[in-house]
Amino acid sequence: MSASIRVRFAPSPTGFFHIGSARTALFNWLYARHTGGTFVLRIEDTDRERNTEAALRVLLDGMRWLGLDWDEGPEKGGDYGPYFQSQRDDVYREYLQILRDKGRAYDQDGAVFFRISGEPQVIEDQIRGRVERTEEKDFVIFRSDGSPVFHFVNVVDDITMRITHVIRGEDHLSNTSKHTELYNAFGAQEPVFAHIPLILKQEGQGKMSKRDRGALIEEYQEKGFLPAAVRNFLCLLGWNPKDGREVMPIEEIIAEFDFKGVQRGNAKFDEKKMAYINTEHLRGLPIGSFTWLARPILEKAGVPLDGCGEDYLQAVMELARAKVTGLETLPDYVGYFFADEVVADPKVTEKLMKKGDLALRLGELEQALSAVTDWSAAPIEEAFGKLAADAGMEKPFAWFPPARWAVSGLGGGPDLMPMLQVMGRDRVLARIRMAAERITVA
Ligand code: GLU
Repeated sequence: MSASIRVRFAPSPTGFFHIGSARTALFNWLYARHTGGTFVLRIEDTDRERNTEAALRVLLDGMRWLGLDWDEGPEKGGDYGPYFQSQRDDVYREYLQILRDKGRAYDQDGAVFFRISGEPQVIEDQIRGRVERTEEKDFVIFRSDGSPVFHFVNVVDDITMRITHVIRGEDHLSNTSKHTELYNAFGAQEPVFAHIPLILKQEGQGKMSKRDRGALIEEYQEKGFLPAAVRNFLCLLGWNPKDGREVMPIEEIIAEFDFKGVQRGNAKFDEKKMAYINTEHLRGLPIGSFTWLARPILEKAGVPLDGCGEDYLQAVMELARAKVTGLETLPDYVGYFFADEVVADPKVTEKLMKKGDLALRLGELEQALSAVTDWSAAPIEEAFGKLAADAGMEKPFAWFPPARWAVSGLGGGPDLMPMLQVMGRDRVLARIRMAAERITVA
């Protein structure tokens, strides 16, 4: 462990926060937090057309949403700024002069070229192992319009920002020989390199592109995924704790994260795993936080929460939390708890009507449940048991679907007894009566 470790995330804002970029940011952040080092955010905004203010917002908001706080960078400052490449022209001119003075830069056709050494460039990549590559041609470092090229600014910034570890996507592995050529020419010490595997799309071949479902962090934000769950999932795209654990608190991941745990082979996007991890994180939330997250989603879907009371809302949320698969499913899953009237699913109605005893069952339910004075799960369950005993049945299964349908209009949902309890005696009885009317009218 060393407090002098400095890593950076160096995105080029394009208006999207791609899952691959987010994962690169995350691995840098994890390494910084694991080692007690510094996490720098540097904006590689040399493409003036694409790198707009709005594009930067998307990126910073996405980082903040994922909880990836940076120690130096935009809005934060630091000793090695500015942290926007568009503001570092002086530094680049100064470093170009160094190369010129050393005879390593020359002009040709209006552009400035870097004179390579032609020596084999060897790196001991922390993930890929030993990688050797020899540059064969001098390359451009300043275009004829005077703008500096990526390889040059990237290396100059890493040198001047004292970056010790470069953790980035494997697509940059082939650039690294150009970069080490530059480090050597400047007489600067090379950083440690760690090239992390690509993220392949779930179906078919190839890298995940921004058009693939699940490729953008914005999508998860909009769909109501938990940021901690998305972050947990991203950790597993290329890293794992070796013992099969998947759902993990971030503190544990930080404690265990190192390059040895990063796989060499490509990572594959897995939508089901994302959903599973989200579900597990949701179920682990304290009820107050769960309710706080659920409320705007229910309200946006038009579920009438006004006047329902905080205790009722929270009790319903406890039922939902036990079974929920995603926050976005909540309006359908528990909306009827708050609605004035039950809207029955016609398919469920039809199925129950076919049995021929629905009206009878509802009548029995009304009678049995009206007799329950202590409205809690156990006495309610006893009332059901009594219905079965009176009918000479072992279990009260015959009354479950009619009861559920009467109070919710649906064929599935939270466990029935706690659901009836939470809904309250008056509401349950009223709904059973209304359900009986529904079928007589029909
Ligand atoms: N701006 C580059 C990118 O987004 C940075 C590459 C690097 O991390 O060195 O790919």
